[in-house]
Amino acid sequence: MANFFIVFYLVKKNLSKIYKLDYQIQVIQEKCNILSNENSQQLKNHAALKTKISRYGSLKKVVEEINQSLDLDNVAVNLTENAFSIIANNQGVCLLYLIDKSKQGLRLFKTGKEEEKLVVKQKEGDLFDLWVLRNNRPLLVEDIRKDFRFDPERMKGKELRPFVSLISSPFVSEQRFSGILRLDNINPHFYSQDDLRFLMRICDLGAVALENSELFKETQELAIRDGLTKLFTKQYFSDRLKEECLRGTSGGRLSFSLLILDIDHFKNYNDQYGHAIGDIVLKKISQKIDNYFKKYQPVIGRFGGEEFSVILPGVDKKKASRLANELRKIIEKEKIVLRRKETNVTVSIGVAEFPMDAKESDGLIMKSDKAMYQAKEKGRNRVCCS
Ligand code: GH3
Ligand code: MG
Ligand code: MG
Repeated sequence: MANFFIVFYLVKKNLSKIYKLDYQIQVIQEKCNILSNENSQQLKNHAALKTKISRYGSLKKVVEEINQSLDLDNVAVNLTENAFSIIANNQGVCLLYLIDKSKQGLRLFKTGKEEEKLVVKQKEGDLFDLWVLRNNRPLLVEDIRKDFRFDPERMKGKELRPFVSLISSPFVSEQRFSGILRLDNINPHFYSQDDLRFLMRICDLGAVALENSELFKETQELAIRDGLTKLFTKQYFSDRLKEECLRGTSGGRLSFSLLILDIDHFKNYNDQYGHAIGDIVLKKISQKIDNYFKKYQPVIGRFGGEEFSVILPGVDKKKASRLANELRKIIEKEKIVLRRKETNVTVSIGVAEFPMDAKESDGLIMKSDKAMYQAKEKGRNRVCCS
């Protein structure tokens, strides 16, 4: 009996030791799990940090590349290509929209695509782009089907291109909104907050570069446009004419017509109404010429005081003289009201064709000028061909 109690006592004592040990094992196991989780989190953080460091390192390259050129096209291509490769590893789609001042909306300017054949139909942006435009804020949508801010029904039938997640950021420089850079992907949760932050950095740099290249373009335009009529200057027109002649002779049969228009008796008009009124008439006539030839992709210049010149690519002399005659009639019929008096002006036009009449620019100008003087001699308000 005594033995039984001794055995019972020993078993009980050891059992409680075993329970204690078991508990300690569980505690250690738990600590191991926590440490292992912390370790894998640290590894993830480390990898994310490495990506961040490499990304921000590549920002230097982006800055160098976009500062290399003042050309709007080059800057936009650089921004699109860099954002697409650094953030998305060239997966999905990257779109760069610019503000179209004439339409007061967006205009698709550059595209980066994983699938070369993919067509982006919404050239003026979709509801996500309009959200960024309206709110002037960056946007991250992890899953367009679950984002309460956007109604997926509104997307239907508009864009057949599939995408589920996207990030988008505006180009803003000194409160001026110049466009949007956007990435989208067919997979949900493709982009992180870090991706959006990086896109925002690219857009900060891009906004300044885009603004500089737009200003440069505007300055260039000012240098080649006549201040009064906004048509090309004589110098620029002559350069373009030389280029067209060179292109025509080196590439074979690229014919075109050259028109020279001169306002009839404009000196008298000035004497009668004054120089300032004469300027208004010059502006009016330039607009008429510009509007009339718009669809022929012309090059139009102010060739002298009240003389204008027009290159009509791919238009032969016969058609050019028919068009010139139609324009002449339009100008003749145009009523100009000055000091409650109705007046009008007429023009004389000379037409010559490249390469039929001359193979180089000076010769061609001489030919159409001569034709224009013939029109003057024959009584003005008419068209003559070389
Ligand atoms: P024609 O029918 O022979 O061409 O007669 P015209 O009087 O038009 O020709 P002319 O070359 O003798 O005179 C051109 C006039 O154009 C001289 C000038 O008064 C006027 N003119 C030239 N440049 C300008 C300008 O920038 N503004 C104004 N208002 N007039 C100008
Ligand atoms: Mg004249
Ligand atoms: Mg003249």
